[in-house]
Amino acid sequence: MIFSIHKYYTITLIFAASPKNWAELFPSCGGESQSPIALKSSSATPITYPPLEFINFDFTYGSATALNTGHSVQVSPTLPDGEVPKVRGGGLPKEYKLVQFHFHWGRKSNRGSEHTLDGKRYPMEMHLVFIGTEYKDFNAALNKTNAIAVFSVLFKKSKFDNPILNPLIDVLPDVGSEDEMPVHVFKLLPWDLSSFFRYNGSLTTPLCNEPVIWTVFDSFVPISERQLELYRELEGFDEVNIEDNFRPLQDLNGRTVYKNKAKSRYCRHPFCVFYEKIQPFKYKGYYGWKRLKNYYL
Ligand SMILES: [Zn+2]
Repeated sequence: MIFSIHKYYTITLIFAASPKNWAELFPSCGGESQSPIALKSSSATPITYPPLEFINFDFTYGSATALNTGHSVQVSPTLPDGEVPKVRGGGLPKEYKLVQFHFHWGRKSNRGSEHTLDGKRYPMEMHLVFIGTEYKDFNAALNKTNAIAVFSVLFKKSKFDNPILNPLIDVLPDVGSEDEMPVHVFKLLPWDLSSFFRYNGSLTTPLCNEPVIWTVFDSFVPISERQLELYRELEGFDEVNIEDNFRPLQDLNGRTVYKNKAKSRYCRHPFCVFYEKIQPFKYKGYYGWKRLKNYYL
């Protein structure tokens, strides 16, 4: 995970040092509750949380900026406080507001995600970073109990472009500093929002602050190889392509990982509304993505 870093020397230290050496430079990175971790369905503790609630999640054009952090592309809503996307429910201890989202990807499609799911690494992972609504900004929330929550979305390779990603991908070649971009963040979430892992972890880039409440969905968002290539063309400050910007897996150290087993599937995504009508059409694995996107968009 990336967080806003404004001091150039900090950036230099982070990217000059391999993640293996982070703990020497940033002691928190050697903590006992670090992220990412290997998620396993079979060993996760089943739990039933109330449904997640998404508020103000339909922000679109002109309300977000994309920033090249040198390590990823980071998108931040630029909305008045009352209109910022918020989440609550789903076992979260309180209400959180979105401060940014960003991506981790691999040089090849057999890697890129930070978390692994049942032993598999996916080509890209998106992190939506939230802070408690009582905090002014991200820095104010650092190191506070229950202050930071991150939603993680895994991307799965698809034969077809995912048109929902295009507004972001279109600005990637020009993301030198900050660019306005159209985005509809709710459409970027996976289809089934009732099935997810929950555990306590950390930020995945220095200073690796703990604690962070992690929610990792186990349904996927499709992305094509062509679209992944456009992420890989993004250059960092050293004019070298940003690739493999994921941290190695961290030890669980006895932490409990929960897997939400909702009583009924809870999904506010427009696709799910459509999907409900076409049972038993099988959407897992994206059979029919090409066919269905015409309906969905
Ligand atoms: Zn991240």
